[in-house]
Amino acid sequence: MAGILLEDIRKSFGATQVLKGVTVVMQPGEFLSLVGPSGCGKTTLLRIIAGLESADAGRVLVGGREVTGLRAADRDIAMVFQNYALYPHLTVAENLAMPLIMRRLTAPQRLPLLGRLMPGTRARRAEVAARVAEAAEALRIGHLLDRRPAQLSGGQRQRVALGRALVRQPRAFLMDEPLSNLDAELRASTRREIVELHRQAGVTTVYVTHDQVEAMTMSDRVAVMMGGKLLQLGTPREVYEHPCDLRVAAFLGSPRINTLPVLAGEGQVHLGPLALPVAAKAPPGARLTLGLRPEALCLGGPRGLPARVDHLEFLGAELLLHARLEAGQVSIIARLPVAEAAGLGIGASVTLAADWTAALLFDAE
Ligand code: ATP
Repeated sequence: MAGILLEDIRKSFGATQVLKGVTVVMQPGEFLSLVGPSGCGKTTLLRIIAGLESADAGRVLVGGREVTGLRAADRDIAMVFQNYALYPHLTVAENLAMPLIMRRLTAPQRLPLLGRLMPGTRARRAEVAARVAEAAEALRIGHLLDRRPAQLSGGQRQRVALGRALVRQPRAFLMDEPLSNLDAELRASTRREIVELHRQAGVTTVYVTHDQVEAMTMSDRVAVMMGGKLLQLGTPREVYEHPCDLRVAAFLGSPRINTLPVLAGEGQVHLGPLALPVAAKAPPGARLTLGLRPEALCLGGPRGLPARVDHLEFLGAELLLHARLEAGQVSIIARLPVAEAAGLGIGASVTLAADWTAALLFDAE
């Protein structure tokens, strides 16, 4: 298995600096998600690993071997895109076999059609057929092998695209939002399939997504990028529970983390007239931002925050309570079990208690 090292990767398009020195060390077999707001450079970084784009500066190593100057075809890395990129005129079996054939043939232009074009010995043909069957079984598309892409659903097409990456047994997988064209249910099941495939094959995987649930549930580690820089790299729990700064805290989690302007005190912080039991490492009087996730709030409690209900959003098992704190007239969102909020209406006075041990403090600057 091969780890991936990205060393100080820089890239500009014209005058726009898109990657400003990104360094990532990936362990062999690791599943790493790249997340960050649209335009932060995730796809560009992935394309640089694949060799589809060249970096202006920096190095890419796969399995200890520098591949920075190599063509995509020589890197032994498989990439799965959002839009499947299947050959429409070939069957599923032929689509799956294609990467194997392309790789072994020195003159791919001699390939008119696959029936005639499995070149070489019978043993070689048998090997290709065995690998195709293996990938088809892993992805449960064995019954679709004779169909063409137009005769498949979106989810089936994406499984064929994954299968095509799988047959090659590459040193690394790169996936760029591979599930974003699928509906919610298929997305969830394909997500589990990818996790299972990764568990079985153990191939180092870099996964670009804007879906936090995907990033959190699938990954060994999550890399949070913003503005062409890597802000934080850690396990899903680390980046969620201990974000390195307010940008990361605000990017991860839906609804967004609540932020309250507070002043540091002795062993507590002050929100207007209220003293909150959160110890700050800052000198008394320093301006801080207190971060409280919506799920860290509940109704009631002696040291709660008095608030007035603005709006209620019913989610099914849970409910989002949007309220305005009396102290400072700050908006706040609490995620509550529906039963807990029974009988509450807009304009009601409530007290919001918090799990203060889960509170985060950030420098207001
Ligand atoms: P998204 O989540 O929207 O896919 P991303 O984080 O993957 O975004 P990139 O696709 O890497 O972002 O793009 C980063 C920036 O580089 C964007 O501002 C984009 O417009 C710009 N960019 C990407 N490719 C090119 C290109 N070939 N020429 C010029 N600018 C480009």
